[in-house]
Amino acid sequence: MGRDISKKDTKLLCLKSGGICAFPNCRKSLIQEETDKDNPVITGEIAHIVAYEPGGPRGDATFPKQELNKHTNLILLCGDHHKLIDSQPNTYSIRVLQAMKQDHEATMRSLHQPENAEPPVAVIKESLHSSLLAVSYLPAVVFAASSEYNDRQKHEVRERIKYPSDRWELTPFLLREGHLFAFHDLQEEENPFRSVISNRDIQIIPAQELWSSAEGKRRYQALLNYALIKYTTGLNLQYDPAHRRYFFPAAKNKDERTVIYRPLNQNQSKRKVAWPQKQKATGKNKNLWIHLATSLRFHEVAPLRWCLSIRPERHFTSDGCTPLPPKQIGRRSTRLKARMYNHPYLSEVHFWRDYLSRGKPQIILNFRNQSVVIDTTQLLTFEIEWPGIAEDTKPFNNQVCNHDLFSYSELMQAIEGEDRDCQDTDEDGEEELDDE
Ligand SMILES: [Zn+2]
Repeated sequence: MGRDISKKDTKLLCLKSGGICAFPNCRKSLIQEETDKDNPVITGEIAHIVAYEPGGPRGDATFPKQELNKHTNLILLCGDHHKLIDSQPNTYSIRVLQAMKQDHEATMRSLHQPENAEPPVAVIKESLHSSLLAVSYLPAVVFAASSEYNDRQKHEVRERIKYPSDRWELTPFLLREGHLFAFHDLQEEENPFRSVISNRDIQIIPAQELWSSAEGKRRYQALLNYALIKYTTGLNLQYDPAHRRYFFPAAKNKDERTVIYRPLNQNQSKRKVAWPQKQKATGKNKNLWIHLATSLRFHEVAPLRWCLSIRPERHFTSDGCTPLPPKQIGRRSTRLKARMYNHPYLSEVHFWRDYLSRGKPQIILNFRNQSVVIDTTQLLTFEIEWPGIAEDTKPFNNQVCNHDLFSYSELMQAIEGEDRDCQDTDEDGEEELDDE
């Protein structure tokens, strides 16, 4: 079927056809590979869609003659299908062959140029940074001993506790219905509560048993929260029981307070944490102090998986120590809005994380033989996929730090303290207890 088809039109047709018969579902390759004895052979045949001879099958006298041998009027077929279309010109009309060629060449294009395919729906993969720190270790048991002190005699008990020499060893306790509950091993002779409990009938209650009831969990959380209050006192924070938040008090002589803290793996930083508001025009104090504050809560986020949440807040006073009456503070203004990409919020979460951990990779609440270890190397991050919002992305680096030798040995000590038998014991008397 030579008839002066140019080399260029031949090449264009063969390339656009991908060397494959254009007949639907034939897919026969039109090149036979060479053999030991013979050269490769092209078995494809070029057929005219509008016949070259006006009087032949699919002839059209009105079709421009100079278009007849163009690749656009040609179709590449195997021998069998070439024979078929020429034998059944009424079935394989001009229109049918044009559609066949168009479909085939489009299929070839999509195979070779995937970018021409329909673009996939744009989905952005991002990390969502939470304000949660993972709790890696928790006391496995709570000790209970009978005590002659009742829940209103907390102060008397506090006065009689034999405080440990290590100021970071914390002594949280609860008094309920004639019993004292603590994370400290009350069986130990030298335990801090020895003067306020009876040595008989000391119970060891597995933590998981406590967590399985709402009351037990509340009791366990109350012990954790008391431990936090004691821990943060050591960091010069004050606890505001009305709002259950921790805040920086003014410095001595009612000066503004700044703290030096060490962001993980970074140089020291300084930050203003309690300061008086001044009139812009006059520079005079406005009788309003702002104190950085945070709410800290332990949550069981999944069975046996606990987290500590950090929620930055503000505490307001009139003079650095007298809280403003609630009327003057909208609830709104004491809580910072948390938004996915709210940079100042996340920076403040990081400030608290660094300050509370004293620049270490973990916060340890130490109860001598047991402890809480909170991993501060990273805020928990969740991978999400969503169709993003243009120009709404702002990368936030979640700093990671590594343990150094000292912090590692501290961690090991804390873990080894956990490594105790936790035997099931009978817990007499279901107690209905309220969180304080
Ligand atoms: Zn074929």
